[in-house]
Amino acid sequence: MPHAATVIDCTGMTVTAGLWNSHVHILPANLLHADKKSGSQLTVALQAMLTRWGFTTVFDVASVLANTSGIRTRIASGEILGPRILTTGEPFFAPHGVPGYVSKYLDENNIILPDDVTVVDAVERVQREIRAGADGIKIFAGSIEGDGVLLMSLGRARAIVQEAHRLRRPVFVHPSNLAGINIALDSGADVLAHLTSDGGTWSPVLIGRMRAAHMSLIPTLTLFDVEAKKGGAPPDVQQKIVERAVARLRAYSAAGGDILFGTDVGYIYQFDTSEEYALMQRAGLTFPQILASLTTNPAHRFGFSDHSGRIAVKMDADLTVFRGDPATDLSALSRVSYTIRAGRVIFRGTPEQ
Ligand SMILES: [Zn+2]
Repeated sequence: MPHAATVIDCTGMTVTAGLWNSHVHILPANLLHADKKSGSQLTVALQAMLTRWGFTTVFDVASVLANTSGIRTRIASGEILGPRILTTGEPFFAPHGVPGYVSKYLDENNIILPDDVTVVDAVERVQREIRAGADGIKIFAGSIEGDGVLLMSLGRARAIVQEAHRLRRPVFVHPSNLAGINIALDSGADVLAHLTSDGGTWSPVLIGRMRAAHMSLIPTLTLFDVEAKKGGAPPDVQQKIVERAVARLRAYSAAGGDILFGTDVGYIYQFDTSEEYALMQRAGLTFPQILASLTTNPAHRFGFSDHSGRIAVKMDADLTVFRGDPATDLSALSRVSYTIRAGRVIFRGTPEQ
């Protein structure tokens, strides 16, 4: 141990490898137009949304690439305390397929997302995004537009996935419904960015196809609860929406499917992770399975397992320290004392938090 090392008293605490959140968005207004914000403002914003909850690595699956890259550079320089941020940059839609709920927010914040008219345009933009630093590509196989879902054509999805894979990047898919999952499977994509919770049940055949395709799944269970409440559904309907999603996670996990923890924070503003953990537990995931979804699973999926996801010599010095023991009390996973990224404390909790 270097003799100048800081010693942290962790009496009564538990240390794990730094946590990953594989579905976030660097989109809240306090993280946009970052070139006009101070390092301490951005540190506070990143702490509130991410590092306060123990995340040392996040995958941003749709944001403004130039803005997110700028934040990344300032984190690397030490000016901002923040997690490692991987990003897909700007997402891909069917022509004119930016979902209504997104475009209103973007307009209010003076952001214009690209609209690829042709498949060739989309493929060229995959190249541009990756050249500009994107670590993955995100497609909306189904965009929610009003009461319906606008699907991306399979030809477009395949062309985007093929180009991303040629450039060795994973592809995340926002499915919306069963047809969207089929586009994800038929195009050869890698990660479902959400469960679905519509009426289209996940048959054993579908789950078998997802397993055979090594499709990773990010549950984002909290999102379904937040959206159901926002939509003003009666309590019994809200509960049904969440329970359907929970049942699908149970089925995919029980079948041995790869689960990556993710909450969609930055789109939703419920930053507290405790509901997500409780719902994962309700879906039958054990503590080791939940911990794997936060550490070893994403590290493996995204090619970081030789240096991230475990505590071992030569690994990244990314650690999360919790008050109490999450193995016996899952709620301790949301009581973070320290978040440490590359050996530096990037969040320090107080006992009241
Ligand atoms: Zn999202």
